[in-house]
This record gives sequence, C-alpha cells and structure tokens, in this order.
Amino acid sequence: MVSSTEKSSESKIFRLECQPNNYPWGKVGKDSLAGVLASESAGGDFKLDPSEPYAELWMGTHPHNPAKLWGKDQLLSDYLSKHKELLGEAIKFPARYPDAKEDKSEGGEGHVPFLFKILTCKQALPLQIHPNREIAEKLHKENPEQFPDTNHKPEIAVCLSDKFLGFAGFRPSKVIRSLVVAVPEIDQLPSKAKDAIQAFIASASDSTEVMRKAWQAVIEMEGSEVEAAVKAFSQRVKTQGVDAFSDVGDELDKGERENLVVAAQSLDKYYPGDGSAFATLFFMNLVELKKGEGMYVGADGPHAWLEGEIVELMAASDNVLNVGFTPEKDSTSLVARTVSGTPHTPADLKLKSQSFSKGSKGHTTVYAVPFEEFSILRIDGQEVLAPLSGPGIAIVTESKGTVVAGNEAKSGSVWFVGAGSELVVEGDGVVWMAFYDGDQESKGQVGKQ
Ligand SMILES: [Zn+2]
Repeated sequence: MVSSTEKSSESKIFRLECQPNNYPWGKVGKDSLAGVLASESAGGDFKLDPSEPYAELWMGTHPHNPAKLWGKDQLLSDYLSKHKELLGEAIKFPARYPDAKEDKSEGGEGHVPFLFKILTCKQALPLQIHPNREIAEKLHKENPEQFPDTNHKPEIAVCLSDKFLGFAGFRPSKVIRSLVVAVPEIDQLPSKAKDAIQAFIASASDSTEVMRKAWQAVIEMEGSEVEAAVKAFSQRVKTQGVDAFSDVGDELDKGERENLVVAAQSLDKYYPGDGSAFATLFFMNLVELKKGEGMYVGADGPHAWLEGEIVELMAASDNVLNVGFTPEKDSTSLVARTVSGTPHTPADLKLKSQSFSKGSKGHTTVYAVPFEEFSILRIDGQEVLAPLSGPGIAIVTESKGTVVAGNEAKSGSVWFVGAGSELVVEGDGVVWMAFYDGDQESKGQVGKQ
C-alpha cells in the first residue's frame, strides 16, 4: 500500500487538508462530529480542544476556509487552476466568490462548483434566506458589500445522526392557520404583528401574499411585549408538553407535536424571548430527518437548522439574509423581494434516493437533487465508481479498513476525485461524496431549479 504523500503529484485522486470552524452554535469538543472528523482532516498540529465548539468542517475551495493539498502549502483552487482537466465539465460554472481573483476565464481560478460541509449544531442557526439567481444579480448590483456575488445558493442536508431537526420553507396555509389560532399568546403581540396574523386568519383564500406579510410582520417585531409573549408561550409548553398543541386539530401528527415541544424548549434555552420562535415554530416546516434521509432548501426558502449532524452541500455563493436568531438582522425590507411564501409539506422537501448506476458493486446510494451544479452520494462498503464528468470531494465518515484509491483512509480523511477518474473504495466503511456529473440520468434528477 502506498501512502498518499508518496503518490505521484499527477494522480487524479489525492488527499486534502480541510479545516473546521468554531461558530458558537456548534457542538463542543468530542460531542461534535465536525470536530472529531477534523482531527483527521485538518493536518498540521490540529488538536481537538474539549472546550471549543466545532460547528462545520469545510471541504471546498471557498476563499474563507479553502482546502489545501495534504501536507503541502498549496490551495486546491490554485492547483486546479493549473490542472483544469480535473474539473472536467464543471468548468462551465465560473467562480463567483468575491475574493476570487479577477480572472474571468472559464472555471475562474480553479473552483469546484459547490461547498461541502459536515455540520454539527446544538442550537438554532440564524434564520436565513438565500436569493435566487435573478434577484442575486440585482441585489449584487445595488449593494455588492452585502451581496458579494451573483449566484444563487440552494442547499441540501443529509442526516448523519439518528435524528436531525431543522426549519425549512413555509408550512401549508391551513397548518399555519391551525397553529396560530391555537396559541393564545399571539394576542399579547404588538398590534402590527397581531393585525397581520388576524388578516391572514381571516383571509378566505390561501393567499401566499397575505401569509408572507404576516410572517414578515412577525420577524420584524421587537420589544418587551414580544419577549413576554414568547416567554409565556415557552413556559406553557414546558408545563403542558404536547397538550400545549391539543387545539391544533389533526393538521399535525403526534410526532410533529412532540418535535414542536423539543424545538420550543431548545429555542427558549438558547434564544429566550426571541420573536423568531413564533416565525419558525408556527409558520415554517419543522422537518425531521432520520439517519440517511435528506432534504433540500431551494432559492427563496427560509431555513434554520436546529439540532443534529448532517452533511451539507450548497452552491458556491455568499449571498444571505439573516432575519432571526441573530443580534444583527439584515434589512427586512429585502425579505419581501427574496421570499415568495410558496408553501411546502415536509415530504415535498425530502430528497429521493436510489442506487447509483455508476457504482458497479451496487453499494452506492445517490440522492436526487433538484439543482444542476452538485449531487451527493454515499458509498457503504466496497465500490468501484465509473468516471464522472466533473470533480468530487469525498470524506470517510466511518472507516472500517477503508482504502480509497489504494490509500489507507481513516475516518475524517478527505479526498479530491478528479473528473474522468475511476474511484475504487475498499473495506466496510462509509464514504460521502459531493460531486458534479453531467449525466443527469444516472442521478435520478428530479428537475432543475
Ligand atoms: Zn443557508
């Protein structure tokens, strides 16, 4: 067996050095999967600090936390800019990162068209929205400081822990209505928010515009009345448990009500009295993922991850509006332009998965992702993957004698897989890979956004 460092530098599959970040919402020390895996991916003198939060492990070419070639002081993006054949067809997605150099050539500066992460959260992340491409272009022109690029930023998440909870997209109108009429604390809100909610309840049609206005009024509300109402609600949930939602009717099943209790208590613990609790719990889908289940967030879908461990994959962009669970909210006047209010059910948002036709041993599952520039697959055990037309970035999340392209591969090791190369994985472990492949058919593509 040859170690990765001894392999020829011209190899198309090679190991990467990837760093975690320490955002405060991450799980702490060994409780964080991102931190534990970073012990094997970060290289250098990285040592897991038992008192530090580790929120995300970044695997990509984003300038804020870029991958390097293992053991070398060379950025992956610099290497790829000199070896563009490794990007293959993905070269058609030019870099749009603000810090990318002013090289407008195709495949600008060797960026992969996605950012791949391991994410571990113990509390809600900021409630956020990413504009679609058309709006991103306008916003970037108007305010390049806040909107540093012209790209959209769709995201997907696949659960690695037993259970993951996250808020994503708007609930169907009748579910929102059944929740807000069953929560007496709504009456204590400032009149602007209360009136907007009343207007929504009274609206006979399922107008997404009336709902969106009510939601906007809720995310904008602030002051002592809001704090008192949210705290009173949280206290009631603490005392009554699922019975706090007994007036909701049959719009939510038992499991959904139990998750509402879990979420309400988590929000009360980390963001006591924050009005964003009402904007999420009542208006947005609280999606539960079991291990191996995935969901997507399209352009204009608000989202806030709550608890658990995921692999997360997104388009290369920094455009974001933070509108809740943060002391520094972005201008809510932009919300009306970026959010359509289109309703979804949690089932709508879940990703379908199927056996990947390019895995010859049948041990690879691919997720049908409704976006063009990336997909994700999971290899369980040994596999031989036929060459893809674009690049892949793979991480071993469970190594059981795992060998990647002839190299011993421990849990946490990260690998770049160049376009056009066959990937051989041996052993009994689990490997996740973000990738681009032009063969939409093989991925069970469910339509593009
Ligand atoms: Zn996001």
